[in-house]
Amino acid sequence: MAVVMKPSASDEDIERVVKFVKEEYGLQVDVSRGEFQTLIGLIGDEDKVDFDRLAVLPGVERAYRITSPYRLVSRSFFPEDRIIEVKGVKIGGDNRPIFIAGPCAIESKEQIFRIAREVNEAGANILRGGAFKPRTSVHSFQGLGEEGLEYLAEAGEEYGMPTVSEVRSEKHVETVAKYVDILQIGARNMYNQDLIEEAAKQKKPILLKRNFGASIEEFLLFAERAAAQGNKDIILCERGIIPIGRGRQFTRYSLDLSAIPVIKRETYLPIIADPSHGTGRRDLIYPMSKAAIAAGAHGLMIEVHYSPNEALSDGPQMITPQELKKIIDVCKKIYMLNFSDA
Ligand code: PEP
Ligand code: MN
Repeated sequence: MAVVMKPSASDEDIERVVKFVKEEYGLQVDVSRGEFQTLIGLIGDEDKVDFDRLAVLPGVERAYRITSPYRLVSRSFFPEDRIIEVKGVKIGGDNRPIFIAGPCAIESKEQIFRIAREVNEAGANILRGGAFKPRTSVHSFQGLGEEGLEYLAEAGEEYGMPTVSEVRSEKHVETVAKYVDILQIGARNMYNQDLIEEAAKQKKPILLKRNFGASIEEFLLFAERAAAQGNKDIILCERGIIPIGRGRQFTRYSLDLSAIPVIKRETYLPIIADPSHGTGRRDLIYPMSKAAIAAGAHGLMIEVHYSPNEALSDGPQMITPQELKKIIDVCKKIYMLNFSDA
């Protein structure tokens, strides 16, 4: 349910509604202050709420039921695009697409500094690098942990780029939040509600990756969990779903491009695409990046290494900084075309 306050409603009017909902019905609320009006979303089982009593409180314009299962992040609740600003980089809405680039994993101080410099020169806005890596095999490189985060933060500082790294477990939330600007929840953890809630409490933007088997509805329902913690700075990321049949011979995952315009219609949150994990193949990064921006993505996350064949993880899908530059340049043109289309 959403309660729309009148433009003239005072802070006391808003407080009265919040108190009423909490005390009468034991529900939590989400207060969204727009430019002109305030919207109050109800969190929890709203079946017991008496609309008529709410609707007559001072300052209330109307109260209505939202049919979407993810009410707080739904466009039907709040129609304006959310713009997330991280150290001067604006993500979402009509802003130019943002490019998150960096290695799959931080391997050494030298490696992340060199990649930071080169992706920065190529036009990337945000630096990525995994420190606590989710790996299928215990024998693979697991990441440098906190040491890697230190290097990432220093490199981001040096080249003036905000940073993002994955938080794989609840026990690392505070450590990762100490170093990075954006907390990534990986595809394997999209269903981990405790981790999402803990990460959201850090009051830093969340980059939530879609699980490879998740429906769009499930994806948005888990974003809703972060929103219910009072944190709506959520960047969604389409990173490929499980390919059907023999498709797996050719690509690691199938980048679900149709999810991008669907998600933009369903929610006001920004949505980016990750063609690196979404294909698993470096020769497909260029075409799929162009396609994702053409489909309306607010940005891309791309794995980059100066020497992909020597990378300790995900070498086959990594591109060079030179290739990244080509992608960024062409994507900026595609964005301008989209824009003139609208
Ligand atoms: C990553 O971005 O480093 C990663 C592991 O991606 P995903 O969670 O999408 O597999
Ligand atoms: Mn990777």
